[in-house]
Amino acid sequence: MLDKLDLIVITALALAVAYYYSKDFIFGSDGSSNAGFVADGGEEERDLLVKLEQNKKNSVVFYGSQTGTAEDYAHKLARELHSKFGLNVLIADLADYDFDNLKDLDLNCLMFFMVATYGEGEPTDNAVEFFNWLDNEADQVTNLKFTVFGLGNSTYEFYNAMGAKLNDKLELLGAERFAPYGQGDDGLGTMDEDFLSWKEECFDSLKSNVNLEEHELEYEPSFQLIDQPSLTSSDESVSNGEPNLTYVSCTSPITRGPFDHLHPYIARVSQSKEMFDSPSRSCVHAEFDLSPSNLKYSTGDHLAIWPSNSNENVGKFIHCFGLEEKRGLVFKLKTLDSTVQLPFPTPITYEAVIRHHLEISGPISRQALKSIAPFAPNEAAKTTSMRLGSDKLEFAENIHDKKLNLADALLHISEGEPWKSVPFVFLIELIASLQPRYYSISSSSLSEKSVIHVTAVVEAEIRGEHKVTGVATNLLKDIEVSQNGSPDVRFATYDLDGPKGKFKEFRLPVHVRRSTFKLPSNPSTPIILVGPGTGVAPMRAFIRERVALLKNSDTIKLGKSILFYGCRRKDEDFLYREEWPEYARVLGDSFEMDVAFSRESSQKVYVQDKILSRAKEVNLLLESGAFIYVCGDASKMARDVQTTIVKIISDERSISPEKAGDLVRSLKVQNRYQEDVW
Ligand code: FAD
Repeated sequence: MLDKLDLIVITALALAVAYYYSKDFIFGSDGSSNAGFVADGGEEERDLLVKLEQNKKNSVVFYGSQTGTAEDYAHKLARELHSKFGLNVLIADLADYDFDNLKDLDLNCLMFFMVATYGEGEPTDNAVEFFNWLDNEADQVTNLKFTVFGLGNSTYEFYNAMGAKLNDKLELLGAERFAPYGQGDDGLGTMDEDFLSWKEECFDSLKSNVNLEEHELEYEPSFQLIDQPSLTSSDESVSNGEPNLTYVSCTSPITRGPFDHLHPYIARVSQSKEMFDSPSRSCVHAEFDLSPSNLKYSTGDHLAIWPSNSNENVGKFIHCFGLEEKRGLVFKLKTLDSTVQLPFPTPITYEAVIRHHLEISGPISRQALKSIAPFAPNEAAKTTSMRLGSDKLEFAENIHDKKLNLADALLHISEGEPWKSVPFVFLIELIASLQPRYYSISSSSLSEKSVIHVTAVVEAEIRGEHKVTGVATNLLKDIEVSQNGSPDVRFATYDLDGPKGKFKEFRLPVHVRRSTFKLPSNPSTPIILVGPGTGVAPMRAFIRERVALLKNSDTIKLGKSILFYGCRRKDEDFLYREEWPEYARVLGDSFEMDVAFSRESSQKVYVQDKILSRAKEVNLLLESGAFIYVCGDASKMARDVQTTIVKIISDERSISPEKAGDLVRSLKVQNRYQEDVW
């Protein structure tokens, strides 16, 4: 006879076995979620040659993408390569393939790489393995025909480092570049135009170097849209904008991960607060409760928030394309190319796609305007959109500089007449997928184990009648106002209940992105923190970490922490002003804060001025092994701070600026000078 204990053990074992086998079903055997909407089903093929052969493809557009731009360009390029040159193109995530047999690739296969550089000259998360392979294992690939377009930001020191590296390395390995290397600059805001110029050169090279013939571009959909009149939005199988398939089918909250960029955790915003005291500017502090889940973070990580579009922008989009009657209807997508994944789970409602899956609010490209022109509601609108789509200067003046999104631009061109004949499937392919927004976590995992704080400045601009609003930050502001009943200074409102009420009680899908922005492992190491504006977010986390360390141990010896912070005015936008005195009280002499108020005196004072005014001390701290951390605006502040540190080292140590610059670069290599800038 089995006694009670045996039964418990057997039941536990049975449950463990069941869990072990079911977890591969739920999360995939690599621990990733089953969130990608793979059209062909089954195990994904990692052998590139087999994949090309099986799907009769003769070219590949690879992408290394962090925020979705490189991926979006890869899709656009692939579509044109197919319709203009008849190429059968595989669009490939660099993370999805092994590259060991690249040297056996067919000589006629063309490779296009769309590769972004992230942070301090690093590869994007999905390209890390590929660059490791390139650095350490790649053999000669003389059979490879390739071209590269790099996506970067010239305000960063290592501008387009990954694109350039890939280009050089492939040439070194004997590959043949059939079209010029190109690069786009987000820093100058010319990414789209740079991509278009490179694409034209690339197409010329396809004609002259590869002898391909160019045909008139004809729209060929990659998906078939099938309306589902028998389904309604409340049916269990129908997506209302859930982040992935798992969430569509579940009826109770999912609290067990792994949670990642494919499978977010739907976290409750347990508290939120307005941080600025200003009639025109806003900054939201929001706290995400992780406690019911197994989601973890460590101090210095980033939180990715998966936003939805505002009611105002959804409404305008629906009006622009005459979708009023369709908004609640359900359709299914079928992929017409087995290698192209569905961009979201279906069956789904029209409105859910617009609200949760398409980047409808941002700026539009000249190319998008040109490609939508054939569907214009009248000849005049068609002529105008063709002209604007072809004329760089006119487009800049009438569309780009006015900060119009797609619906704004089209209604402006057609003088208010809706564009009813644009196929919805065309819009799905034209518009980039709505991407998560990243925030530097402002809490410490030591003091707040199961809560993540973020500090987000609300992005909004009023231009007469026209409001230009950031997607995620205005969503956070809507939550803050709705949660606290604060004065209503919202620029946009949202469906806070989310798909089938799954975001009720102020919930949002989030995942944690591991970062390399980390405190020194030895707490006695001095740290110099530079974080003006919301750049203070991770600095607050670091200081809270040191406070928690001190509270947890009587014997710990903390190194000095100096925080250089900057804002406009003490009584307007001084973030966490009530907290700093308490940190100073607990940390005593080991903490000091130096604040630059840029608008309180006739001469503007910035963090770099404050750093320079303490040159001797900063240099001594660096000589004693201090780490420097810089967070915030990448375009100017980070560069100015670095110039200041170089000047201090050069002056204080009486060495040339070039030598001081080399020293700072070596500090970066040793991770003693870390930047978290955006
Ligand atoms: P988006 O919708 O992404 O819009 C971006 C900008 O474009 C906005 O200024 C918006 O007003 C403007 N815009 C909108 N529509 C148009 C149009 N049609 N034409 C032209 N312009 C338009 N931010 C913080 O506040 N705090 C942080 O701690 C923080 N940490 C970050 C950490 C990392 C690693 C990164 C990469 C970024 C970080 N950011 C942080 C920036 C943040 O991710 C977002 O970019 C920012 O909050 C804006 O998001 P949004 O969705 O509101 O704006």
